[in-house]
Formats: sequence, structure tokens, C-alpha cells
Amino acid sequence: MKRYLSLILCLISFHSIAQNNLILVTIDGLRWQEVFRGPQVEIANDKDATKHQTKLMKQLLTQPPQKARETLMPFLWTHLATQGVIIGNRDSNSRMSVANQWNFSYPGYSEIFTGVTNSKLNSNKKVNNPEFSFLEWLQNKRNYKHVAVFGSWDVFPYILNTERSKLHVNSGFASATGYDLSDKAAFLNEIQAQTPSPWATVRLDTFTHNFAVEYLKKHKPRVMAISYGETDDFAHDGRYDHYIEATRRTDRFISDLWQQLQSMPEYKNKTNLLIVTDHGRGSNLNDWQHHASKKSLSGYMKALQQEFPEGIIGSEHIWMAAIGPDIKQLGQMKTSRELKQSQIAATALTLLGEKPMKFNPKAAKAIVEIIK
Ligand SMILES: [Zn+2]
Repeated sequence: MKRYLSLILCLISFHSIAQNNLILVTIDGLRWQEVFRGPQVEIANDKDATKHQTKLMKQLLTQPPQKARETLMPFLWTHLATQGVIIGNRDSNSRMSVANQWNFSYPGYSEIFTGVTNSKLNSNKKVNNPEFSFLEWLQNKRNYKHVAVFGSWDVFPYILNTERSKLHVNSGFASATGYDLSDKAAFLNEIQAQTPSPWATVRLDTFTHNFAVEYLKKHKPRVMAISYGETDDFAHDGRYDHYIEATRRTDRFISDLWQQLQSMPEYKNKTNLLIVTDHGRGSNLNDWQHHASKKSLSGYMKALQQEFPEGIIGSEHIWMAAIGPDIKQLGQMKTSRELKQSQIAATALTLLGEKPMKFNPKAAKAIVEIIK
């Protein structure tokens, strides 16, 4: 009897992990430095980088780093870091970086979604990815319904190869389409068309976020990804004030998303959330706005070669966080080795009760340290 009992218990616990949902959130190029130390004083006090000393910036500059990071990202620090896990604080032996050789977005997102690197993916150009994402595999080989990706950058349909994958990807300036829209989603379509974006290829995150939440409420997918983009583009513009405000807003979006999930019976206490970034950035006033490896200077990033002949040092460094019923409550986790961005795909699949080996035996292994 005892033997059967343990078998039943084992089945129950397997059953529970197999039923949980997964939401993957990415925040483009948000540095580990702000996440773990709060704003960097030399950049915050520079008149070119910080054209407006906003109320938030002034407040942050009066606070010690531990308090400032909490003011900057309250959901991350008071909720996620206490109930889940956060990795990438290089000041306290917690290390994570990209495995690709380039330190910019397309190769980064490809690494996140496919679990492998491909040295031919060496630009941000709109080329269809020859690699397969775990989302494509779940939808087409494991029969997951309504798998969707919402992103601010208009290159996601190529990174996720929608021509081949047929994944539902809404990004760039695309309207919500292809399903029966809620009134709110229809209104978002209207105001998105009326709202200018500061950038040619990236929309404001409010559209990405609200389209994603409306889709979630309607279709209740088991797996979804949301990719916020403002942080990276304000940084490239050299505007630290805007970058800091965008970081604060993104934390609020994630908090809003989490509250939405916890208000729905399909998701409440049954959803694991992974947060990761696609690349880091430079570390000082001169290079914080950029990101590129030395190797990339001879190709896609050649515009930076003259000023930064060594590339943007440290832009391979990233961070991640996770929370949910299958995530260990570890807080700030130290790492015994450098964790890699390529491990996210297998981690996501493991959290869904899937076998990463079946997805792609070449994909990097899951970060099992964080999984219950
Ligand atoms: Zn990026």
C-alpha cells in the first residue's frame, strides 16, 4: 500500500507541475546595474544624459542603493525577490550572461526562445530565424493552444519565424487582429494608430502590455511571452531620465500583469513567471547607452568601432528573475558558475512539465537550481 501511496503522490505532484502556466517577460537591455544598485549617480547627474531631473530621479538620488532599487522597481524587490528568485547581481557572486557572441537584440532573443546560439544570426535585420523556438515546438508538436507573443519591437515576427511557425505574434505597430476583439482591444487599435512613437521600429510599451493583457483575458493561453522595449530605446537615445522612468513603468506593467493573473482562476497560484533581458549595456557615463561585443565591431556594430575599439565591455552581462508555484523561494541567488541566457528555453519547458531534450537536444540545460 505504501508503495502505491508514494506512486499516487508522485503522480499528483507531476500532475500539478504539468498543469501550470508559463509567462515569459523580457525587458530590452535593462542593465543589471540599475536593477541591483538603483540609478548610477554619475549618469543621473550628467546634464546631457539626464535632461530633466524628474521627481522620481530626485527621490532616487536621495536614497541609498538598497532603497533606491526598491523605489525604482517596487514589484521586483518587494514581491518577486522575496517570494521567488533573482539572479545577476555581479556585486555578490551572482552571474549570468549571454552565450551568443554579439551582445545585441536579435541574437539575444533568438537565444532566449530557441535555447541555442547560431553565429550566422549576427545582425538585427529582418531575416527569418532558421532555429526553432520552444514556443513553436509547444504549439505545433505539443498541441498547445493560443500560444502568443506580444512585443514592442517589429523584428519579433522574424525572430520567431511566423512564416514557418504560424505563431501569433503581435509586435511593432501591428494592430490586434485575427480574433474577436474586446472593446478595449479595439480602442487600443484606434489610439495606437493615432499615437506617434519616438522610434521607427519600436512602439510604446503601453500598447504591447495592454494588447497582451486583453489577449490573456480572452484566450487564456497556457504559455505567453511579452517583450517590453522602451528601456533599450531610451538608453540608445542617451536619455537616462527617460530610461529610468521606463524602468519604473515596466515594473508597474509586470505588477499589473501579475495581479491580473492572480485574479483569474485559470492562472491563480498556477502560473510561473520568468523575467529576463536580451543583453546588458556599458558600465559608465561614456558607454552606458551602447551594447556590442568586440567581435560585432567588424560587422553589424561597426559604427562603434572608432570610439570603442574593445567593444562595449560588460554588455554580455544580464539578469533574470522568477516567481511562481514551481519556483524556489531563494531571493538573491548566488551562482557557482556563469549562468547563460540559452538556458531560459529549457527552464521554461521544464516548468511546463515538458522534456527539453525532446524539444532540442542541443538546447542549453535548464536552470534546475531555481525549480522546486
Ligand atoms: Zn535589445
